[in-house]
Amino acid sequence: MKYHCFLIKYAEIGIKGKNRYLFEDALVRQMKYALKDVGEFVVWKESGRIFVKGEEGTEFDQEEAIEALKRVFGISAICPMIMEENKEYDNLVKVVVDYMGECYEDKHLTFKVQARRADKTFPMHSMELSAELGHELLEAYPELSVDVHNPDVMLNVEIREQVYIYSVEIPGPGGMPVGTNGKAMLLLSGGIDSPVAGYMISKRGVRLDATYFHAPPYTSERAKEKVVDLARQVAKYSGPIDLHVINFTDIQMAIYEKCPHDELTIIMRRYMMEIAENIAKKNKGLALITGESLGQVASQTIQSLLVTNEVCTLPVFRPCIGMDKQEIVNIAEKIGTYETSILPFEDCCTIFVAKHPVTKPNLKVIKKSQEKLADVIDELLEKAYETDEVIHIR
Ligand code: ATP
Ligand code: MG
Repeated sequence: MKYHCFLIKYAEIGIKGKNRYLFEDALVRQMKYALKDVGEFVVWKESGRIFVKGEEGTEFDQEEAIEALKRVFGISAICPMIMEENKEYDNLVKVVVDYMGECYEDKHLTFKVQARRADKTFPMHSMELSAELGHELLEAYPELSVDVHNPDVMLNVEIREQVYIYSVEIPGPGGMPVGTNGKAMLLLSGGIDSPVAGYMISKRGVRLDATYFHAPPYTSERAKEKVVDLARQVAKYSGPIDLHVINFTDIQMAIYEKCPHDELTIIMRRYMMEIAENIAKKNKGLALITGESLGQVASQTIQSLLVTNEVCTLPVFRPCIGMDKQEIVNIAEKIGTYETSILPFEDCCTIFVAKHPVTKPNLKVIKKSQEKLADVIDELLEKAYETDEVIHIR
């Protein structure tokens, strides 16, 4: 079936009152962004709804367009549609019968015609048109039967400037359009959890920046590329990401040399949060995002989170906090980050990890240990900020 156009349905943004147009504009912008590699499209708003169609005289791959739209947060459903200019009743019958014929091979279905007459010059009103078209379809395809309460096929026929016909609803990702809820800084590692965390917060309309801490020569260039690949995959949903790559080696070495080894991870995590927060603040970020999940590892017990969280003044979003590993993996597979995440490249956290890390760190004790860094840490932090390499993921 060759469709001419898509009707885009959106859920939550319908209820935002005066802000509604901001949400719709953000949605239109994100749709254009998502479609830019698929072809040339026109996206327009019309009586509280959004439509997309290929630019006049251009071709596009329908499946690819649908895949792209399925990644645009804010869309609750994508309805492929055909448009007909000729509103003569007899022509309309032909078009509707052909549509049904082409769309549904097996006609052992229940259906209902839902006609809507927005163009008041059209001679039949909605109820009458629904009934007449239903009757014509039953004549054309005797296997069909009508069910007005719970039909297999809800055939929508809208009489507007043109006639719109659609019956298929492809679920969108839901959520809110990116750009409607500020910006946050994702701490992005090469693991499974943090890309999922970024995806989930982006789904609430939040634009993303990201920070990755690498530790050359202990972590390789390939490990960094893996993180860039993950950011690219997340950006298919979130839109552009500025990825900050920070050289963390010297800070890590100093902690390793001066602090108790069972506290290494916690102290490291505190500096990561501090650095990420400062980069966020410089770039209008309003929150931090991590892939932490309660109890998953020693540094993610409730006591550990209390101690790492203490360095932050921005809110820290941890959307995976209540999820089991398998639940996180399921999302990673769905969004296409899993395959990259499981590639076996070294992570700066695992290289310096202690055999028996503290699971219930005490804030006072940790702060005391950190004092051992007092005479070097300011300079090391300053140097780390200088290494900031920004990779624009588009
Ligand atoms: P992930 O799968 O996201 O790597 P993880 O289960 O391996 O998570 P940790 O290594 O303890 O958990 O890291 C917890 C969180 O800290 C990560 O989800 C991520 O947000 C952040 N993080 C860890 N390592 C780095 C890093 N090298 N660069 C940036 N952020 C990091
Ligand atoms: Mg990790």
